Amino acid sequence: MTKDSPVARTVPVLVPMPAERPYSYAVPDGMEVEPGSIVRVPLGPREVGAVVWDGPGEAVDPRKLRPISLVFDCPPLTEETRRFVDWVAAYTLTPPGLVARMLLRVPAAFDPEPPVEGLEYAGHEPDRLTPARRRVLELAGDGMAWTRSGLAHAAGVSSSVVDGLSAQGVFRPVMLPPRPIVAPPDPDYAAPELTADQAAAAAELTGSVERGGYSATLIDGVTGSGKTETYFEAIAAALRAGRQVLILMPEIALTQAFLDRFHDRFGAKPAEWHSDVPPRGRERVWRQVAEGAVRVVAGARSALFLPFRELGLIVVDEEHDTAYKQEDRVFYNARDMAVVRGHIGDFPVILASATPSVETRVNADRGRYRRVALPARFAGAALPDIATIDMRRHPPARGGFLSPVLLSRMKDTLARGEQSLLFLNRRGYAPLTLCRVCGHRFQCPDCSAWLVEHRFRGQLVCHHCGHHEPRPEACPECGALDHLVACGPGIERIAEEVVGHFPDARTIVLSSDLVGGTKRLRLELEAIAKGEADIVVGTQLVAKGHNFPNMTLVGVVDADLGLANGDPRAAERTFQLLSQVTGRAGRTGKKSHGLIQTFQPAHPVMQALASGDAETFYAREIAERERAGMPPFGRLAAFVVSAATRHEAEGYARELRRAAPDMAGVEVLGPAEAPLSLLAGRHRFRLLLHGERRANMQDFIRALLAAAPRPRGSVRVQVDIDPQSFL
Ligand code: ADP
Ligand code: ZN
Repeated sequence: MTKDSPVARTVPVLVPMPAERPYSYAVPDGMEVEPGSIVRVPLGPREVGAVVWDGPGEAVDPRKLRPISLVFDCPPLTEETRRFVDWVAAYTLTPPGLVARMLLRVPAAFDPEPPVEGLEYAGHEPDRLTPARRRVLELAGDGMAWTRSGLAHAAGVSSSVVDGLSAQGVFRPVMLPPRPIVAPPDPDYAAPELTADQAAAAAELTGSVERGGYSATLIDGVTGSGKTETYFEAIAAALRAGRQVLILMPEIALTQAFLDRFHDRFGAKPAEWHSDVPPRGRERVWRQVAEGAVRVVAGARSALFLPFRELGLIVVDEEHDTAYKQEDRVFYNARDMAVVRGHIGDFPVILASATPSVETRVNADRGRYRRVALPARFAGAALPDIATIDMRRHPPARGGFLSPVLLSRMKDTLARGEQSLLFLNRRGYAPLTLCRVCGHRFQCPDCSAWLVEHRFRGQLVCHHCGHHEPRPEACPECGALDHLVACGPGIERIAEEVVGHFPDARTIVLSSDLVGGTKRLRLELEAIAKGEADIVVGTQLVAKGHNFPNMTLVGVVDADLGLANGDPRAAERTFQLLSQVTGRAGRTGKKSHGLIQTFQPAHPVMQALASGDAETFYAREIAERERAGMPPFGRLAAFVVSAATRHEAEGYARELRRAAPDMAGVEVLGPAEAPLSLLAGRHRFRLLLHGERRANMQDFIRALLAAAPRPRGSVRVQVDIDPQSFL
């Protein structure tokens, strides 16, 4: 196209909408754009932030072609980032525009941060020199620019001293670049002394960083063996090589202790990225990641979609954690996509876990991933002694849920001045409320789920959609007064039982329901770590990553809870969760115990936990998966069809089934009504696709969707590649 061509130059632009392809826009004369440029474009009646893409754009009638409104003063997204977006979109069968939207979520960061007002020495002497003024001048006299408060703070004087000097013309105002959100980490700030095992593991990890290029390494070792300590060395190596680092963590908002540890090692904190970071903070992190000022981010799964410019290492901590799977709009598993990002960017990825996912274990066993093992806890801290309590032989007292065996161990622990943790993965007081007179059960009006009583709040709550109503005095069905009974335990009820047995102990209940949110939770966790509680009753929130030095007993109230839910990973999940929970005990060398209440003490999960023989458990689980062709030996994908009526949902699910192409190696199971058949007022059906490892599920699904009629009316379809949830 020549300069005086009548046709405007056009570029493809990916808009943050469910667009299958970039749209074409005209580039006005004099505007410079390149692939990755962040721009503002008109879209219908609005203007949106979008990215200049590569490849062909959608063909448009030249008369309808609209111009790009402006190019933001922002570093363009790298080629690597763009290929990552394309890859995630193709793999998850999501329109690329929706994936790009995850990257473009903070439009306020597209403009540079405003400069900060500062001052510098102008060369004049003040009229008189007090000791305070002298200290200020000693610092600022070399001509470096300072902020007013920074200078006052450094000189140990009040800001008015600095103001006084400014008023006399000793300083002149200057504009400073915006302050970095975190100081740069120093890879050599405080290198630890590693044990021989740790040093060997660290050498493997740093080696993969120093050699460069893609690799995926599993670091596998019991809780407290020093995995964190070891991968910090790989982070140091990446920093020395001038690369940015991303650490993904499942519960980053609660891991204050991790940030402090990072600070101890690197002399500065990592930038945080998660939903509790306020909007302004997020804008700054996004911007400074794009500019390269932020070198290390510790974040939740969505941090994978930050605009890194020289990412050189991703660490996925607790890689087995289910929190890495997003099941909303873009269905993706951040652990798997981290490996993809490493592959595209040609840099190493480290997966850390004491209880790796079966998928990752198999990848390591078959040489697709490397494996580095840390066999023992640091400093000889012993793992807790784990035993099961057979609830058929040691039943709790009537109306209770804690067996005498567990209660007596709690009593001993209390007497020694040590802490106990009771774990139950169920919030609230009781999972079911019914009327003793007519048998009425309280159900969510919008979901096929019972309402969970939250006694402290006086509410019945749906844990699926959030519906809540006050707990009535009378049965709404038969009107009987005071005949409602709570069935089964939640943590509030366990806490009530604990207080009944140990009225003088300091008991804390911890779950995500805590009034005061994350901040309050952090405080409570710190209080527990400092020993300000004797007995903690909590959900899996307390299981993740915390270090409670005085905790020597962990009791699992209902170990069978997660086993009977039709999830092919139920055994694996239960093993991981309970290992992690019992791993809270004995982190500092005191003799410690884990007691697991179960009705199935012979179950392989309970056997593995009690014997500490994880290898046998993994071997059995892997053999089972291989026999059934389940992941990673086969592939799964799910369709969830939902609609306003059951009839519509079922009808469309059947149409999808009929549209399935003939492809060797893929079978379609269902449709079947989903276990959660009604969710937030929508009726749900599921189809499960089961493919051989080699099968191209994406091609199959694309062909299926192309052959199926478009969804009509209220019908919606979600595609979930590698589903983790089967509800
Ligand atoms: P993991 O990540 O495997 O659970 P951590 O790295 O958190 O293990 O280590 C457990 C505890 O032991 C931490 O408190 C850590 O500071 C300490 N620790 C581990 N290795 C060392 C070491 N080489 N020197 C000093 N402290 C260590
Ligand atoms: Zn509901």
